[in-house]
Parts: sequence; C-alpha cells; structure tokens
Amino acid sequence: MTAAAAELLSPAAAAVRLVHRVVCDGCGWVGYRRAPWCRACPACGVDRSKVRPVWLAGCAPHAGLCCYLAHIWPPPDHPWPGYRHACHYLGSTIDLRVRWPEHLSGGYDPVSHKNNGPGSRLIAAALHAGCQVELVRVWRGSQARRLEQRLKQRRKPDSGSLRAGAARSLRPLCPLCSPAGWWRRYPDLPDPPPLPRPRRLVHDPELWDADAEWDAAFPHLADGPSPG
Ligand SMILES: [Zn+2]
Ligand SMILES: [Zn+2]
Repeated sequence: MTAAAAELLSPAAAAVRLVHRVVCDGCGWVGYRRAPWCRACPACGVDRSKVRPVWLAGCAPHAGLCCYLAHIWPPPDHPWPGYRHACHYLGSTIDLRVRWPEHLSGGYDPVSHKNNGPGSRLIAAALHAGCQVELVRVWRGSQARRLEQRLKQRRKPDSGSLRAGAARSLRPLCPLCSPAGWWRRYPDLPDPPPLPRPRRLVHDPELWDADAEWDAAFPHLADGPSPG
C-alpha cells in the first residue's frame, strides 16, 4: 500500500481491512495480503508493483448477477490530473469472472480519450495514469440490479453535471474509504429462500370419500350388511 493510500485509512481501518487475493504477474505466485502492494513477490522477488490484487477473499468472481464497487487509488508520485483523490466505479454484470479481467485489461487512448478495450473508460483511464484499482465490494443476487439503479440515479440536483455526486455517494459504501460504517450501507443480503414446492396432490378422505361416492352412484352394487 502506498503512503498516500495509508493516509486515507483511519486507525479503525486496520480492524476491518480486507484481505486480497494477489497474484504475481512475473511467476504466477498467488497469495493473500491485507495490503496488496506491501512487499515484493516472495517467490521470484519481482518488484511489488508487479503484484496485482485480483479480488477480495470471499468475493472471488462468480457467475451470476452481481453489482460491484471498485476503489481507484491515485498514483502515489504523479497525481492523476482528473482525479486527485480516490474515486470509485460501480457496475453490474452477470458474470464477474469475465467482466473484472476485462476492466483490468486497459486499452485507454490518451489522444482520443477513448477506451479501445472491453472494460470501462474510467478504469482504463485510471490504469493508464498509473492508478491501482481494487475490487472492494460485491453484492450478489436479485438485489444487484436494484442497487445499481438506485445508486446511479443519485445526483446533486442543482449541478448540471451527470457525474456530480457519484463519487460522493459511493464513498460511504467503500470499506477502504469508510471503514467504520460501510457494512451498514446496503449490506449484502442473501436472496430469500425459494418458495416451497407445491405439494403433490394427496387423496384426502375428508374432502372426497371415494367409497361413499361409489355407493351413492351405484346403490344396487353397494355392499349390504354382511350375511350371517
Ligand atoms: Zn513472482
Ligand atoms: Zn474507496
């Protein structure tokens, strides 16, 4: 973690700081770290900037609908001109295993300000500027679409910009930026259990007494009192 990044964390952050799965792009080493960029690769010794957080422990990308929040650290030495502070990206997908690597693949063209890659333009521009991007929250299941719509609707009403308010509204949700209260905001609720299966039709003699119906329909065949 960079010095600039550490300044953003309050002392309480240490208690809830997340554990990241990290990989070394040089040798393929995989490990778990609280601070993804804290040390060089223990396997091959390559510089720590080549170690890359891929997801949060417990948040490994799965198939299925989800909404996700990415925290973008500004570069430590040369501030990203457009974004001098940490900022966030909120998206949704039906398969984060596919979508997250697309975001990290970059492809930003600084001349045209377009993104030629499959990921989002914001993340591609951030990576191009030397920012580090972390996946910090994932909401799964049917709540994901509603949550994304709700958060993306939120804007400052009196500012003309479409982007205004987005950074501010996502900050309270971010575990790195709001270590004390992030988990209270839109907790990741499990989907309700599925409805019980309809019961199989079971013959209930109270409702339909087949023997009595038979006797009423064919009285001449009905069993009489037993002889003797
Ligand atoms: Zn390595
Ligand atoms: Zn954040």
